[in-house]
Amino acid sequence: MSHQHSGQHDPGHHSEHFETLAIHAGQPADAGTGAVVTPIYQVSTYKQDGVGGLRGGYEYSRSANPTRSALERNLAALEGGSRGLAFASGLAAEDCLLRTVLSPGDHVVIPNDAYGGTFRLFAKVVERWGVSWSVADTSDPRAVRDAVLPETRLIWVETPSNPLLGISDITALASVAQQAGVRLVVDNTFASPYLQQPLALGADVVVHSTTKYMGGHSDVVGGALITADSALGDELAYHQNAMGAIAGPFDAWLVSRGLKTLAVRMDRHCANAERIAGMLAAHPKVTQVYYPGLPEHPGHEVAAKQMKAFGGMVSFRVEGGEQAAVAVCDRARLFTLGESLGGVESLIEHPGRMTHASVAGSDLEVPADLIRLSVGIEQVDDLLADLKQALD
Ligand SMILES: *Cc1c(COP(=O)(O)O)cnc(C)c1O
Repeated sequence: MSHQHSGQHDPGHHSEHFETLAIHAGQPADAGTGAVVTPIYQVSTYKQDGVGGLRGGYEYSRSANPTRSALERNLAALEGGSRGLAFASGLAAEDCLLRTVLSPGDHVVIPNDAYGGTFRLFAKVVERWGVSWSVADTSDPRAVRDAVLPETRLIWVETPSNPLLGISDITALASVAQQAGVRLVVDNTFASPYLQQPLALGADVVVHSTTKYMGGHSDVVGGALITADSALGDELAYHQNAMGAIAGPFDAWLVSRGLKTLAVRMDRHCANAERIAGMLAAHPKVTQVYYPGLPEHPGHEVAAKQMKAFGGMVSFRVEGGEQAAVAVCDRARLFTLGESLGGVESLIEHPGRMTHASVAGSDLEVPADLIRLSVGIEQVDDLLADLKQALD
């Protein structure tokens, strides 16, 4: 894949590939010391040379901090945008975006298979401020077009989605959004920019929980927004500073460190997940496997068109209902029972009682016998053996 980036911040990296950009884009050797990694600038304020005389452009660390700036330049480069912004969490990033682009009376179209916290933000928080929403099956561009109202301002999509690994055609949705004069937002957390680049496919804004694959080591909570629209980028940056939910210097540094190995980690996540999805599909106790890499997955062709590989997340249903699903989660040993995803270690969870408890009773409710795996980068035979013993 070749990746565009603005070159605004470090003109030497115009045409380099993803793996190279991940290590170098926006990460020059430190000006003061020559340190090859941007240090953790654990600082709130900066000495001025006379009133208003800023040495490095830095004034106060809510507005900008060198460690966060290095991450933000890297995020922009990796998603092919002109502006990247780093936040304290994925939901803080989403909140900043929604309060930047929406006003009372506006309407949004959201997916019927979304991260539970995203749904909660729309249904329980943003709605109170006079923003209405409706749910559409985003894997069907016509259903999305039919859900758009005169007051719709944005279409939200997650692909692959959480936890059912549904696939939505970003190019098709971008054309629905463009015809309706609304913005398309893609939550790219499950794919990461190594596997999928929504801005190049016509999306207006990319959202990330950097807590997941981008951080990659289950040691930081963070979020990001990236856009190629410089006017929107300026508005988002204004609101990031005005609302203040920024990534702190240490968290920004951890995410930058994670991004340097994103490509090699994703290759292994994908290879392991493919093997596990294949094993599960043939297992007598498994009734359904949700993995876009399987040819029988309804979104397989679209995923093959817009993704470099099929990702590290696998969901499946088991015989015996909720009790059986919970028992499998309890018996797993190498797969750690826990929420979240995208770290080097494999995780298993029961979405109905854990990550997606907040969508119970809504259109987004998930099957009670569903299990979700975040396949890590351990040796795959060890992972296969653990799942087999948990299923038997
Ligand atoms: C985790 C997650 C979020 C929310 O991010 P936080 O960092 O937990 O606030 C949003 N979208 C998806 C797809 C996620 O997995």
